Amino acid sequence: MEISEKNISDQFGRIHDYLRISLTERCNLRCFYCMPEEGIALRPKSQFMTKEEVIRMAETFVSLGIKKIRLTGGEPLVRNDAKEIIDALSGLPVELAITTNGILVNKYIDTFISSGLKSVNVSLDSLQRDKLNSITRRNYFDTIISNIRLLIKNNFHVKLNAVIIRGVNDDEIVDFIEFTKDNNVHFRFIEFMPFDGNKWDWSKGLSYKEILDMVKLKYRNNLTRMEDRKNDTSRNFRVHGYKGTFAIISSVTNPFCGTCNRIRLTADGKIKNCLFSDSETDLLSAMRREEDIIPMIQETVWHKKSMRGGMNSIEDFGKQKNRSMVAIGG
Ligand code: SAM
Ligand code: SF4
Repeated sequence: MEISEKNISDQFGRIHDYLRISLTERCNLRCFYCMPEEGIALRPKSQFMTKEEVIRMAETFVSLGIKKIRLTGGEPLVRNDAKEIIDALSGLPVELAITTNGILVNKYIDTFISSGLKSVNVSLDSLQRDKLNSITRRNYFDTIISNIRLLIKNNFHVKLNAVIIRGVNDDEIVDFIEFTKDNNVHFRFIEFMPFDGNKWDWSKGLSYKEILDMVKLKYRNNLTRMEDRKNDTSRNFRVHGYKGTFAIISSVTNPFCGTCNRIRLTADGKIKNCLFSDSETDLLSAMRREEDIIPMIQETVWHKKSMRGGMNSIEDFGKQKNRSMVAIGG
């Protein structure tokens, strides 16, 4: 094994410089594609990283060349100490970003501004009140929309995420794109992925090709395919003259594994070398025993499979054990 001291790479030469930290498994929504209806079993607080442990983990990863950290969950902003964590991580030499359902953005907007956090991803699976409330099994449509507007007004780089599901929101793809006409946001359409408890069935998912065909039918020659950036997980487009852009994320039909640079740290302190991997490494217990976690991180990433945690085709989907998405940190 050739592992460099200074960076985190795998046996395929992929350098990992992007860490996604889940701050909690808890959430104030119950999106059906992410969370089992009954929620997930609550566990004692002692099993999760404290604020100090999150910061120590982040510092360790930064010493290994991590350049970008995204906070996620569950819903990261339901943690009472989210402000202190954001403040502390903003002092590290990394680009800091967050993925949120938007409900608590107004409470944290000053923290986002003062910490220099610029990129905020917000889940938005429908522009229709009743439908969004039904997908999320809660009633926060107005709060979410007004908080997205607040982010736009304050010039954040806003990405909106919609998981596209047949018979649920596939009829809104054009509406989502029309939202980018006057709003400088990046709307991302995500293929429905399988996780524990989400009753995944690919017949409910729309593929990249199906989505693009629908888009082309409406916009034909008015579409520009934008240049991909290194490590991009989406294919990006703009309708001529529109302020914002949109993208399709094809993790199911055409994954971006070849340039993957991501590591995931779960709220209970385990690292996953891939969203779909069925193995985890318990860093938190080792850190609490004051063991050196650096070799554990490097070895875990070194053994990353070439593609989707070892699932090489759609037929393999759903066969491997994994957590529910809310417990991984999307
Ligand atoms: N609560 C925050 C939110 O909703 O943005 C952050 C956590 S959430 C797990 C992160 C992202 O994962 C969301 O954009 C959500 O749409 C996506 N996600 C969850 N389950 C998914 C699934 N089965 N397929 C595709 N994307 C999924
Ligand atoms: Fe909560 Fe985000 Fe999952 Fe929805 S997608 S249940 S908001 S963690």
